[in-house]
Amino acid sequence: MQNIIERLLQGDRRALARMVTLIENEAPAASRYLAELHRHSGNAHIIGVTGSPGAGKSTLVARLVREYRRRECKVGVIAVDPTSPFSGGAILGDRIRMMELAGDPNIFIRSMASRGNLGGLSASTRDAVRAMDAAGYDPIIIETVGTGQAEVEVMRTAQTVFVVVAPGMGDDIQAIKAGILEIADIFVVSKMDKPGADQTVAELAMLLSLDSNRKQAEWRIPIIKTSAVKEQGIAELVDAAQKHRTYLQESGMMQSRAQRQVRSELQALILQAVAKSLREAVSEEEWHELIDDITKRERDPYSVARELEARVGLNGA
Ligand code: GDP
Repeated sequence: MQNIIERLLQGDRRALARMVTLIENEAPAASRYLAELHRHSGNAHIIGVTGSPGAGKSTLVARLVREYRRRECKVGVIAVDPTSPFSGGAILGDRIRMMELAGDPNIFIRSMASRGNLGGLSASTRDAVRAMDAAGYDPIIIETVGTGQAEVEVMRTAQTVFVVVAPGMGDDIQAIKAGILEIADIFVVSKMDKPGADQTVAELAMLLSLDSNRKQAEWRIPIIKTSAVKEQGIAELVDAAQKHRTYLQESGMMQSRAQRQVRSELQALILQAVAKSLREAVSEEEWHELIDDITKRERDPYSVARELEARVGLNGA
């Protein structure tokens, strides 16, 4: 065990890659290693990039990586695809991985895909971030596809969230309103070399001015136009991200966000353990019998629950 941990802490990419695979496979060893890595993490700026397919996220992330490299940062990227059951099939990851061909040792890129359960994906993303953070990557960019609940969950791991909107995608604005507005820290209007970028900026500004929750907030969400093809706006975007990081640190929000996350992580870990012992303690057959008895009114759910709680080590009090 010491070996992989030590190598990872020294920034060995193969050790890190192996660690992320263990995390993805939910290998029992992963949590032991992560327990060790925890005290070495907490240094990275974690940036989330989300928006609909086609919004220009992958292209933008590639440019961001380059800009951060220019600033001599060691950059980690996690491409998360909640819709794909196999990481190997994640198109997003493939596209991003191509950048790795450049062979820069200060860039680490991985894709992660859903194994069916949503909580699992955000947990494995968080763990992969922890490992990359311990290996010295800063920033770590998490990219997701789409604007649904899965993306919101994954984005909660990030400290600074970019929501990317391409010009002329009016429907997107509605989707943002319904989904990810609450987690946006910076809006990016991509493809500013195309017509309609200013109108999209105006629509987003309108949306923000109507959002009453935001009005009291000290952080005014900036709207930044970028063009990946013309390489415009990228440095401004990185500057805005740094500014947001400073804001979080100075306002104490960084700490309160971290505390909120620790609480939900702890709760999730405990619930997972309870669910696991319940699966082990009660056979499918017994479930059927119990459910039958309760449906027939021969037994009641409360006393059955107490019995099962006792069996998984909760005293049922
Ligand atoms: P994603 O699905 O959000 O990751 O979007 P992509 O990064 O794959 O981009 C979708 C399409 O938009 C691709 O065909 C890109 O070449 C194109 N694209 C991305 N950024 C720009 C840009 O700044 N300007 C223009 N004109 N096209 C862009």
